[in-house]
Order: sequence, then C-alpha cells, then structure tokens
Amino acid sequence: MSVRRIEVGEIEIVSLTDTAGPFFTYSGAYPATPRETWDPFRARYPEYFAGEDALFTRVGCFLVRAGDRTVLVDSGIGPGPVALFGHSRGQLVEELASCGVAPKDVDIVFLTHLHPDHVGWNLTSEGTPTFPNARYVASRADWEVFHRPEVKAAMEALVPGCVERDVTPLAGLGVLDVIEGETDLLPGIRAFPTPGHTAGHMSLHVTSGSQQALILGDVFHHPAQVPVNEICIAFDMDTAAAIQTRRRIVEWASREGMPLAGCHLLPHGLGRITRRDGVPVWEAL
Ligand SMILES: [Zn+2]
Repeated sequence: MSVRRIEVGEIEIVSLTDTAGPFFTYSGAYPATPRETWDPFRARYPEYFAGEDALFTRVGCFLVRAGDRTVLVDSGIGPGPVALFGHSRGQLVEELASCGVAPKDVDIVFLTHLHPDHVGWNLTSEGTPTFPNARYVASRADWEVFHRPEVKAAMEALVPGCVERDVTPLAGLGVLDVIEGETDLLPGIRAFPTPGHTAGHMSLHVTSGSQQALILGDVFHHPAQVPVNEICIAFDMDTAAAIQTRRRIVEWASREGMPLAGCHLLPHGLGRITRRDGVPVWEAL
C-alpha cells in the first residue's frame, strides 16, 4: 500500500495531486535519451509507462503542517482546462479540502520554481490571491529568468497566461517574497538551491527532532534519473547543473536514508533512495 502522508518528527508532509495522465511521450519529453535507456525501468516502474512511448505523468503539490503553520509547496496546473496537460483541470483546492485545509488557512505558498505546472493556482480568475492570507515565496533567480522576454515568450507558448497572469501580478499585489540562497521559511523548514531544472529551482529541507526529509520539486521527474543522473527532461534549462544537483541529492539522500518528496513521482511522490549492490534506487513509500 502506498503512503500519502509522512511525519517528520512534529512536522507532517501530505501529498496532493492536481492532475495525472499520459500527457507526454518519452521521445518528446526526453529527446536526448535513447529508447533502450528506458528498457531496464519498464518492469520495475510500470506505472510510469502508459504504452510503448507514452509517459504517465502526475502533477503534484505538497502540504506541510508545522504546529499551527501551513505551507503549500507549489500550486499545480490551476483550474484549467490546460491543453498541455490533456485539457485537464487541476484538483488542488479539492485535495486541500480533503485534508481539512481551506485556501485561507495557507500561510506560505512556496514555489520550487516557476514552470506553468507549479504556479497554476496562484491567483483566482479575478486576479486575486487564491490563498488570501499567504505569502508567496519564489527564488530571485527564477523571478528574473522567467521575466526575460525570450523565456517568458517560450513559457506563454506552452501555457498561455502562465507568467503574465499567474506569476507577474504577485509582486504588484504585495504578497511576494523573493529569496536567495539558503533561507529559513519556518523553524525546521529551510529552502536551499537545487539549480538546473530552472536557474533558481529550490527545494526544502525539513527537520524536526532527529528526523529529516527533502521536498525536491522537479529535481527528479522519473525514478530512472536516480541511478542515471544524466537523463534530462526537455524542460531542464541547464542540463549540466541539473545532473550535478541530482548527483548531490542522490549522495546525500541515500547516505541519510531520509524520505523524499517529488512533484511528478508516482503514486504520491513520496519515497527514499536506497542502494542495491551499490546502485542508488528510488523506492516509493
Ligand atoms: Zn514540473
């Protein structure tokens, strides 16, 4: 049975799924990865293979509860329908309600990065914050990169409105906190840079008592990237940095044996990295 929530000492991490489906192909999402690279992983991780070339993808977010504070990590594809994700409509608000959390209860929306499948629920159709009492936290590097004309145009071509409608207004609304480097969001919840997928991609190190976990955003999209760090999704902006970040996280996470959370991993994005005959392996919780 798979696990949807974990406890890290006194802090709780709950997986939320905004949408899921066979939205992409392996050849399209991983154009530089030869087909045979995937073969060893088909039997071990069949849930990621919806057909010969069809890639099953989940778009997830995480709820982190620490005492009376509530953090939402990423905000999914949004209410949609979003053509890039099979014209699906995000379920995040219902997912939060199933955990007893209303939008007004969220204190911090932490954006691991600013890709369209992580910012979709930031604002309502009226342009007001979906989470009216929250501070929205993004990295300075991503804020700057996603507002470069060529990057913004590329993102808007993927999902119309994903920068101008879903991200840019956060600053004018006065709800945005831009951070750089390691930054404590709350006691036991520290943001740290994990660059590569985007220039300013950040993850969270959660610690409570003697326990710890990492919420990794899009450091890994597929469990094959745990032993083969060189597999890069087409959306990795800086492949060399992304590979280096995966290598660093694999070393750290396998040494510590700590639970990990990834936005696109199945079934709930929670797992850990163990070693079999010295080879690092993703094991879902
Ligand atoms: Zn993503």
